[in-house]
Amino acid sequence: MKKTTLKRKIEKLISVILITAILSVAIVVLILSYSDVKSRYISESVGRIEGAITLLSSYVNQVLKGVEVIDHQVSLLDALKSEEQISRLKHHLEVVKSTIENAATLYVGTEEGKFYLYPERFVPVDYDPRKRDWYKNSQKNSTAVVWSDPYIDVGTSELVLTASKRFETLSGKAVGVIGIDIVLNELSTIIQETVIGNRGYVFLASKNQAQIVASPNIEENGKEVLAIYGQAFVDFLRSPNELYEDSKGIYIKRQTNLSNVMMIAMIHKNDIYALQLKLLGWIVAIALFVLIVSEFFILKFSRYITEPILKLCRVMERVGEGDYYLQSDIESNDEVGILVLGFNNMLRNIKEKNEEMTALYEELYASEEALQSQYDELFVNREMIKKNEERYRYIFDITKEGLWELSTHNSVNYITKTWYASFGIDVTKGLLEDWIRLIHPDERERVKKNLRQHVMDKTEIYQEEYRIMTIDAEYKWIEAIGKARFDSNGDYLGLLGSHLDITKRKNHEHRIMEMAYIDTLTQLFNRTYIAEKLQELVEVWGKGTFVFIDLDRFKHINDTYGHAAGDQVLIKLSERLKYKEARFLARFSGDEFLLVLEHFEHESDFKSFINEILLTIGKPIYYEDMMFRTTASIGVSTFPRDSMQVEELTRCCDIAMYQAKKLNGNTFYVYDKVVESEAIKEIRLESNLKYAIENNELYLRFQPIIDIRKQRISGFEALLRWRNPLLGEVYPDIFIPIAERTGLINEIGLYVLKEACLTMKKVNVENETPFHIAVNISVIQLLEERFVQSVLAVIEATGFKRELIEFEITESVMLESNEEILAKLYYLKSKGIKLSLDDFGTGYSSINNLLKLPLSYLKIDKQVVRDSVENDPVFTLMESVVSFAHRMNISVIAEGIENQAYLNKVIALKSDYVQGYFYEKPLLYEEIGTFIANFNQKNTQ
Ligand code: C2E
Ligand code: CA
Ligand code: CA
Repeated sequence: MKKTTLKRKIEKLISVILITAILSVAIVVLILSYSDVKSRYISESVGRIEGAITLLSSYVNQVLKGVEVIDHQVSLLDALKSEEQISRLKHHLEVVKSTIENAATLYVGTEEGKFYLYPERFVPVDYDPRKRDWYKNSQKNSTAVVWSDPYIDVGTSELVLTASKRFETLSGKAVGVIGIDIVLNELSTIIQETVIGNRGYVFLASKNQAQIVASPNIEENGKEVLAIYGQAFVDFLRSPNELYEDSKGIYIKRQTNLSNVMMIAMIHKNDIYALQLKLLGWIVAIALFVLIVSEFFILKFSRYITEPILKLCRVMERVGEGDYYLQSDIESNDEVGILVLGFNNMLRNIKEKNEEMTALYEELYASEEALQSQYDELFVNREMIKKNEERYRYIFDITKEGLWELSTHNSVNYITKTWYASFGIDVTKGLLEDWIRLIHPDERERVKKNLRQHVMDKTEIYQEEYRIMTIDAEYKWIEAIGKARFDSNGDYLGLLGSHLDITKRKNHEHRIMEMAYIDTLTQLFNRTYIAEKLQELVEVWGKGTFVFIDLDRFKHINDTYGHAAGDQVLIKLSERLKYKEARFLARFSGDEFLLVLEHFEHESDFKSFINEILLTIGKPIYYEDMMFRTTASIGVSTFPRDSMQVEELTRCCDIAMYQAKKLNGNTFYVYDKVVESEAIKEIRLESNLKYAIENNELYLRFQPIIDIRKQRISGFEALLRWRNPLLGEVYPDIFIPIAERTGLINEIGLYVLKEACLTMKKVNVENETPFHIAVNISVIQLLEERFVQSVLAVIEATGFKRELIEFEITESVMLESNEEILAKLYYLKSKGIKLSLDDFGTGYSSINNLLKLPLSYLKIDKQVVRDSVENDPVFTLMESVVSFAHRMNISVIAEGIENQAYLNKVIALKSDYVQGYFYEKPLLYEEIGTFIANFNQKNTQ
């Protein structure tokens, strides 16, 4: 496309508009001026014609008068016979001639052919007036003057008009015609000299004969109109129309006094055109002037319009060259202003984007370099790999890959014969059974099934891995890949396949699997294996028993004898658990094992088997020169009864195991709905326990502790109670373990301590000898970091004496074997708080503990008390414990004294204090006063 500018476009446009306007004006002016000029010419012509006509009519009038005078004089004559009469006639003719300005010749012709004229002039001898037109015409018409058409006299070449009239003398003797010729010289001159415009003229024409009478061009005189002006003009001449126009000119016609003679003015069209041409010249001159002047303004105007755009263009060009940091400073209040604003904004955006992009590009460039070098490296590596691959493939092809082909009749063509020979197959026979027979029995059926299925179902590819016996009677892992072929009808054509030795890979995989799935310590499967693989097995087995084994107090062994000892225990136990009935054995976590047993028809068989497991676990374990015993809590679930999902089955086991744990371990529990509901109940308890304190559902009972020798009340043990509106009365054996597990025990413990102190403070107000208060402290509380500060603060707040407080702790404290706990206990002792070892004789009782802990009291468990009543060896053992305690300055309290026999027994044991229903059950605060009063009364009696 041709390049142009906005400015040029505007200029062109305005110029075109201007020229068009000028042209239209010119055309309008020309059209208007044409008719104007035309009418001006017409009126001019009319004026000329009328002048000429007036002149003609004055001639005519003179002639008429002259004719009358002659007629009158002639009529007075008698006859034109006498010379005298003739001379008189001549005299009259002379007189009359003088009265008519342009009279040329006056003459009289008679019937007899006589002829008189004035002035005399040459007449041919044979001239007979009667043969002349003027005579003939007047002879016909007796009264009127008859006019000839003007004609050119042959002799004088003048324009002449003849008027004639018939006459008769008085006597009637002479009859003839009077004629007057007048010269129309003046008219002729007028005709010749009249110029309309430049070339327009006037002329006379006769109507009837259609002849030119007088034309400025003398040669035309007497000629036919038709020849010069054409038929249309002849028609015009004879019509009443006054105006006629042809290609040459415009004609105006007027009737003269002579009925047959028309006066015509011709306006030459070229004259009008010439005038218009002149006008056009002026118009063109003016237009040119206007154009030149306006061009100047157009230039100015277009510059005014386009200047800001041009400026913007220049800025844009520079932007195009990459200079994004420009801004246009054009100020304009029209659309260009908006454009500039938008443009500037755009530039700013581009600038920002450009900067971002530059940064990004630099980053990219850097990373590209890194990438390039990585790629180079990769390329080198790939080349190497390719080379190696080729080499390996070559070796591989001949040594490790077997190719085979199976016909429709199951005969095998072993293509790579050496390879197949390494399995001891007679390749010439081509029997499929020979190959199948070598497959590992575990996989044989599967292989057959899969092969069949591939052909039947027309699956994409046949592929599987299995073990097969070599000629050396070793199993090799191979990967078999095959593809069945079918013809266009879908009929089976045979199977092509390959066998690849993957033993190495399998071994490797196996090692990896071992690392991921095998517990390094016991070489049993680990928890990952259970999570990922056991489900599959469970589905294969269909039925079976999950046995979840959790060792009791295993932590104690670890903590006391060290981890090496603990590890040995675990290793020995895992060996013992490898029963032949065990389908699966795994170490679940630290001291937990999962055993999957086959299905038992009768529950009794299965229970005796579990009992056997418990016994096996309980057998002593020797390590270095030490001997350990451990027990376990076992939870059992069965599938498909409880579930088919491993996760659910282990959960059931866990619930059951937990139940066994609650029975103090060394026992098992089979999961059932009761256990489940127990677990659910526990959850309910747990959620309610959270709000027990704030809902005021906790309260204390106080059980008196009696000094046997002094037979007086030494103090009370604070025992917690929980009464919940929904759950009813909940016993501490139930909710304390929950509180411990959830950590609620910390808050609850402080509540108990506070309530116990406040109550005992009130009780002591009424007694001279103040009573002690024993408060049970859970090991969880002792483990809490701020335990010492909080208990001291609580006691301080109640204002109760620290020296009257005993903390009852159990031996589980020692299982935690926490130095910090010991430090705390010693510190509390230094603050005056006494320590009591509760439940002695259950669990891991050890004389060691009596040495390590800063004890003031030892509480013999109620079960041990009962045992020592019934069982002498226990009694003997306890006797020595009590004496040992005494030697350590530890007083002994016997719990659970229910009757006199018990009391006697513990007195025999040399127990210092007793506690039990025999004296009193745990009391409410309100009941304490009565009890004290009764007791004192009884003992003072
Ligand atoms: P414990 O410390 O051994 O408390 C003594 C338990 O023996 C009390 O049971 C008491 O009611 C019961 N008892 C007393 N005399 C006899 C008797 O002659 N025969 C029989 N068979 N039992 C008797 P209780 O109150 O149900 O408490 C059970 C356990 O709950 C307590 O055993 C203690 O370990 C725990 N416990 C109770 N209150 C608290 C507490 O405030 N804090 C903590 N941490 N544990 C508490
Ligand atoms: Ca206690
Ligand atoms: Ca106890």
